[in-house]
Amino acid sequence: MHWLSRLRGIGPERTHTGADIDERAFSEQNMRLIRRVLLVCLAIGGASIVAEMIALGTHDTYIRYSSPFLLVVVGMFTWVILRRPRVVILFSRAFLAALVVTWLVVMDQRLLAPPEVDQGWNALFPQTFMGFVLFAVIGYLVYPTRVALLHALAVTGGSVVVGLIALHTGPDRDAHVADLLRFGVYMLVLTGMVYVLSRAKERAARAFRSAANATIEAAAMREMAYRDPLTGAANRRRLLDELAYQAVATASGAHVAVVYLDVDHFKRINDERGHLVGDEVLCMVATVLQLHVRESDLVARIGGEEFVVVAPGLSLAEATALADRIRSVLPTAVAAVAGSAVTASFGVTVLRPGEDPDEVLGRVDALMYRAKRAGRDRVVSAVD
Ligand code: GH3
Ligand code: MG
Ligand code: MG
Repeated sequence: MHWLSRLRGIGPERTHTGADIDERAFSEQNMRLIRRVLLVCLAIGGASIVAEMIALGTHDTYIRYSSPFLLVVVGMFTWVILRRPRVVILFSRAFLAALVVTWLVVMDQRLLAPPEVDQGWNALFPQTFMGFVLFAVIGYLVYPTRVALLHALAVTGGSVVVGLIALHTGPDRDAHVADLLRFGVYMLVLTGMVYVLSRAKERAARAFRSAANATIEAAAMREMAYRDPLTGAANRRRLLDELAYQAVATASGAHVAVVYLDVDHFKRINDERGHLVGDEVLCMVATVLQLHVRESDLVARIGGEEFVVVAPGLSLAEATALADRIRSVLPTAVAAVAGSAVTASFGVTVLRPGEDPDEVLGRVDALMYRAKRAGRDRVVSAVD
């Protein structure tokens, strides 16, 4: 489709003013994603807790202490996500903090327990490690990136401190220095990686938002460049573009009618009722025109009280009938708003194949003047 045809029918209601494209819609979309991801995490978490309970029973201290608590929290969290979406973020942060503390306590217990009672340091990988990894990653869902980095570093630091305490007070101290070092390095690497990914995502989202804003701003500026600010109708520049475009269409035999309207004795309205009333009359004339034409027609204000309608598909006879309908309703419609009835004189013609916009405007303007000379408040139409 030609880009001009998309500009057709510009009206005040289509104005986009604020450049700020849906920051809110964007964050709502983000929230939906976060809720979905959290639900998937909870489903996987819940299923693995149940699986571990079945596989390990209650012999494992870790399972015995943490599983029932975790299952209750998972259930509550799911309920909050589904039924209380407004507090999801707040709840997630509290939930996450509680999980991290629980995990640190459990980690401490496991490292301090002798291997025959618990898995001891063997439990560092993968369960304990995976838990902390998950918490660090969830932090990026519920905190802004920088805070999430601090959170991930705190999780890493906290778990390493617990490991250090266990090294110094546990049963076989120095045997696990390498394990703890490995754990700390893995956690740091992961923290850094997720941070970089999250920053990249943030930048991409910002770029996407500003691109969308730029598109809207460009559309708004394009509309402003083609719109008459007083009446919201198209302006002369837009009209000339439309006529040039339609002149190409007429080359394939299509009818395109052009109607020219000039309000009669408009100066009197200004002189007797003031400029503001004059402006109201002009807006009403534009409204009446818009109401009588089709979506595909163009209404333009090209001078003080001069309007042009371009109506593709209308023959001279149809366009004359349209102009006459407008002429007959105009006085009452304007009087209802401005308190003074006005009439208008019309010229009607059809566009010739490949005709120059200025040429057809000159022709239809001359027809309108014939209507003026013949006594105003009438329609004069001719092909040439
Ligand atoms: P005619 O029947 O011969 O067309 O008489 P007329 O008084 O309508 O014609 P003329 O061209 O002498 O007057 C047009 C007036 O339109 C003069 C000008 O002050 C007024 N005008 C032009 N632009 C605006 C506008 O934006 N607002 C208002 N209120 N008046 C305007
Ligand atoms: Mg005039
Ligand atoms: Mg006039």
